[in-house]
Amino acid sequence: MSEPDALFGSIVGRTQDRKLLESAGVTGTEELLRRFPRRWVDPGRFTEIRTLSEYEEGTDVIIHASVLSVGTRRMQSRKGSITTVVLADEHGGTVEAVFFNRAWMGSRLEQGTRVLVSAKTKSYRGRLQLTSPVLLTGDGQIATDPADSAEDLAELAPTRPIPVYPASGKLTSQRFRTFAGRALDLAPAELFEDPIPADLRAAHGLMGFRDALEAMHRPRTMGQAHAASRRWAYEEALALQVHLLQRRQEHEAVHALALAGGIRTSLEAFDARLPFPLTPSQREEGARIGEELAGARPMNRLLQGDVGSGKTLVAMRAMLQAADSGAQSVMLAPTEVLAAQHHRSLTAMLGEQAVPVRGRRSLFYGEGPGEDAAEDAEVAVALLTGSMPKKARQQVLSDLLLGSIDIVVGTHALLSDTTMFHELGLVIVDEQHRFGVEQRAALRQKAGDRTPHTLVMTATPIPRSAALTVFGDLDFSTLTDLPAGPKRIATHVVPLSAHPTWIERVCEVLAERVGQGQQVFAVLPRIEASTDDSGRTLPGVEECADWLRSRPELGGARIEVLHGQQPTADKEAAMAAFAAGSTDILISTTVVEVGIDVPNARVMVIVDADRFGIAQLHQLRGRVGRSGEESLCFLLTHAEPDSEAMARLQTVADTLDGFALADFDIRSRREGDVLGRQQWGGRSSLQHLSVLRHEELIRTARSDAQGLLARDPALREVPGLARRIAELFRDTDEEIFEAG
Ligand code: ADP
Ligand code: MG
Repeated sequence: MSEPDALFGSIVGRTQDRKLLESAGVTGTEELLRRFPRRWVDPGRFTEIRTLSEYEEGTDVIIHASVLSVGTRRMQSRKGSITTVVLADEHGGTVEAVFFNRAWMGSRLEQGTRVLVSAKTKSYRGRLQLTSPVLLTGDGQIATDPADSAEDLAELAPTRPIPVYPASGKLTSQRFRTFAGRALDLAPAELFEDPIPADLRAAHGLMGFRDALEAMHRPRTMGQAHAASRRWAYEEALALQVHLLQRRQEHEAVHALALAGGIRTSLEAFDARLPFPLTPSQREEGARIGEELAGARPMNRLLQGDVGSGKTLVAMRAMLQAADSGAQSVMLAPTEVLAAQHHRSLTAMLGEQAVPVRGRRSLFYGEGPGEDAAEDAEVAVALLTGSMPKKARQQVLSDLLLGSIDIVVGTHALLSDTTMFHELGLVIVDEQHRFGVEQRAALRQKAGDRTPHTLVMTATPIPRSAALTVFGDLDFSTLTDLPAGPKRIATHVVPLSAHPTWIERVCEVLAERVGQGQQVFAVLPRIEASTDDSGRTLPGVEECADWLRSRPELGGARIEVLHGQQPTADKEAAMAAFAAGSTDILISTTVVEVGIDVPNARVMVIVDADRFGIAQLHQLRGRVGRSGEESLCFLLTHAEPDSEAMARLQTVADTLDGFALADFDIRSRREGDVLGRQQWGGRSSLQHLSVLRHEELIRTARSDAQGLLARDPALREVPGLARRIAELFRDTDEEIFEAG
């Protein structure tokens, strides 16, 4: 775009200024105009210096004062300098504002300069200070050219909100404001196309592009600034949703194998053998999945449901439908232990239908049901892990290639190495946490001309707005009912710092429960013992086991350990022994977090529970009470009684509702942590959209995006939006592409 570039030249006349902006990543007019203030200072709220001590530490304040003195000294310990400006206001109060590495300020501020400073209050060595201060204006004395000073003086009349921009180096907030103001003055009204189509703007009462720019950089009221922010948030939400839906259209345009069944009869036989009816949501979601598998468009679905809601069964039935269509399925688990566990439970569910490899008919399965009904119902299930003996592994690999294995269970390594399939039709992913956008892209790329259907399972409920943001390219299914009826787990927080002896009471309960034939999970946050900040020894797995073994009341209990550093065979043996009921208490790290199914386990003890997140605690707790019987969960902690950690644990103890906990969790975290490394906003340049605050807006944008694409799939009528999407997501796409 040559025109705006020429314009940029006249906005930023001097090379020096251009370099300054370039160093902050601004190289064009629109970029400049879209670099929005971080916040606005409300001029209605000046704070008198002498009242500062009444504010809580960290409060944002604005002070209108004059400079009493300025001093700069070099820091001894580190490179750099500290400039201390003593400010006095007309009410007689004084306070120090401390700037780091702003030595040049000393030469521009002198005694008597009037300034507006926005800062946070802080006490330092018992004295009140202003930290991270932003010099909003300074009588034109700070400004370096005459054009700035006139505007600054006008703005110093404290009636309008003052935008505060993220400062970097010499590019102060004030300088930035000057550039933005010039850009607004010089850019013709029609220069930039509004990415939001006019009808949608009108429908949602959103400001137009140009007005919103004005309202961000030069708002007349705070209300105006906030209305403008809402518009940018919507713009981002719309761009994001259109982008996600477009990507979805792209991968729907790729063909999948239509898995309509009819070649073999394993699903029918399986359903006939099922000792219980499907729950209503298993039936509904199962039917939906069945239909999608039968189509030639690849399924991309997220299956959510609390621990014990029967997701594995839904996945199993989908894989049988694939097998009956002559296609293979992969089930991916996050760890080898879990892969082994899945392999065991799938085999157990299949009972007599399960075989290690298909017989001679494997190569002829295109011929339709044969004479032998039992053989038509057979399903070959295999486990493939990195730690398997090489020979066994190679056997599985060759069977997979020949098509004599229907279902293979393993870790993600299955996708990345040289595994080749006869006909891969379906991929099931257990736990979405470790399977983000990149992995989905990788999968699509590996598949070549026919993309496998994908079903991602998760026991961690994701609030809808977050789901739409991160998994906007997936459809959602939720299993809302628990086959065993509502869980009955009584959760108790055991506050050991206030009541150290309560650990003995816990041991008594364990002894009692073990005496009744129940099994116990004890989970620790770490394998090895360590020491915390306060010098307390945090037990490791072995210490915990030894300690429990030394308890007289637990004398007869069979106690075993399980953790990630054990050889695979030991891990498997420990799991198998616990599953078989020959271990009473299994002490482990979070390897049991997902997927382990031992109905007789009725007590969960979580040691140092404050070291776990809410979602993790909820998942761990879900390991017990699977058969609907009354169960117990102890959250042991040394957290202080009034601490945030204690409040978190209490919240977990107070409810068994996974969605309520997910909601609490997402609201109590900082925005940046919410979606972790999968967060779209973290890598793209989304500035305004917040999955916490804009839930409604995101939903609206989703349906608007659907409507828009239905009318105009190539976005021909809305070039402004198309351009914006390209700008916002270019990098993200490249990254995903590279990851694939
Ligand atoms: P999830 O994977 O969602 O945690 P699972 O699929 O492991 O749950 O199922 C939990 C338990 O409930 C398993 O023992 C399973 O056999 C059983 N189950 C699944 N569906 C039903 C059902 N419709 N009725 C009764 N039990 C069921
Ligand atoms: Mg499961």
